[in-house]
Amino acid sequence: MQEIPYKIYLEENEMPTQWYNVRADMKKKPAPILHPGTLQPVTVDDLTPIFCEELAKQELDDTTPYIEIPEEIRNFYRMYRPSPLVRAYCLEEKLQTPAHIYYKFEGNNTSGSHKLNSAIAQAYYAKKQGLKGVTTETGAGQWGTALSMACSYFGLDCQVYMVKCSYEQKPFRREVMRTYGAQVTPSPSMNTNVGRKINAEFPGTTGSLGCAISEAVEAATTQEGYRYVLGSVLSQVLLHQSVIGLETHTALKKYGIKADTVIGCAGGGSNLGGLISPFVGEMLRGEADYEIIAVEPASCPSLTRGKYAYDFCDTGKVCPLAKMYTLGSSFIPSANHAGGLRYHGMSSIVSELYDQGLIKARSVEQTSVFEAATTFARVEGILPAPESSHAIKVAIDEALKCKETGEAKNIVFGLTGTGYFDMYAYQAYNDGTMSDYVPTDAELEKYLSSLPTV
Ligand SMILES: *Cc1c(COP(=O)(O)O)cnc(C)c1O
Repeated sequence: MQEIPYKIYLEENEMPTQWYNVRADMKKKPAPILHPGTLQPVTVDDLTPIFCEELAKQELDDTTPYIEIPEEIRNFYRMYRPSPLVRAYCLEEKLQTPAHIYYKFEGNNTSGSHKLNSAIAQAYYAKKQGLKGVTTETGAGQWGTALSMACSYFGLDCQVYMVKCSYEQKPFRREVMRTYGAQVTPSPSMNTNVGRKINAEFPGTTGSLGCAISEAVEAATTQEGYRYVLGSVLSQVLLHQSVIGLETHTALKKYGIKADTVIGCAGGGSNLGGLISPFVGEMLRGEADYEIIAVEPASCPSLTRGKYAYDFCDTGKVCPLAKMYTLGSSFIPSANHAGGLRYHGMSSIVSELYDQGLIKARSVEQTSVFEAATTFARVEGILPAPESSHAIKVAIDEALKCKETGEAKNIVFGLTGTGYFDMYAYQAYNDGTMSDYVPTDAELEKYLSSLPTV
């Protein structure tokens, strides 16, 4: 048998030239997104005032299985891709598990996460359409950073609405974005109608992702030559992120490895959706079977405790409605929640796959996530992002189960990024002041009972 190296690299010419659109292989498609005014399925024409035309088409395309990656995007990908698939020999040794653990590391670029894979695609299509710039929101800042890098590459203006508490707590993220030329505004701001309204209604609020989305959408639609871009949740983003899964799939095949379990963290569902797409595709076509696990925080449990229903994608209710697992568009995780993955809903593709029983979901508490992060950092060297560490936690759990059963399973997980800007959270964990919070049913019901009736 061929020896598996620590790092399984692909050659440049083994990189995917097409993204894979898993919707094409789904017999039952994700439910259509609805116009917030008419509650009718949106058309490309409805979306083009908000999104670039090509991206609007990708958003609604649930039949084309493979979509060409334009050469300009492939050239940019070559600067930091293919990303390594790493055999976690040291973690296996530490756990004394018979399982074989692999992780796909997406933190190997300045933005520090997988988000660059979609940022560069979205910036490219905006440039190609002749736009002046794009607007967006960012929570922890990874998406804003990735988008700033992508916009500076194509010479586009980039306006980022950053959730106010992150703007204040993560000044260095903000400065990375400004270094790449982006204009960063704390949200809710007084620049937009929706920002002023939210500030008046909730004085002193430190903001939320849903609120920043509403502001960025308003900014895009009220400035000539601007469109809105989003770093997760949307089907177009999952499409671009399929590059993660396609590379993983090719690399495993190269060494004759058959994955048993594929694990990813899930916030809006884009890295998970991208990682699992080629594997789910095989399941949908009846070619192979995998155990797929989405991991979310116990303090923001959309898949494990939310409802599968139409909901607004943003707090301001200006975006289309999507059918998804949701906690309600006004849900905001408790203040002690540090680990990212704080969006109230979930990608409609991931939601539908979950509803069809093709993937499982698990929720984990944050102190256990940081414990796993620390174990991982000490043996594998990489300081993982708290978001990614949700996947590490479940990968370790699964590897420890193998220790009991003696099974040598192949466990693959997505290591989405690095955690250098999350040191306040690591500090709280190291100081022993980090706490867990699991919302009660009554609390969740408060938000779930006011879902829109569609
Ligand atoms: C944004 C982010 C996530 C969560 O987003 P998804 O769309 O669910 O993938 C996970 N990990 C890192 C490092 C991120 O930056």
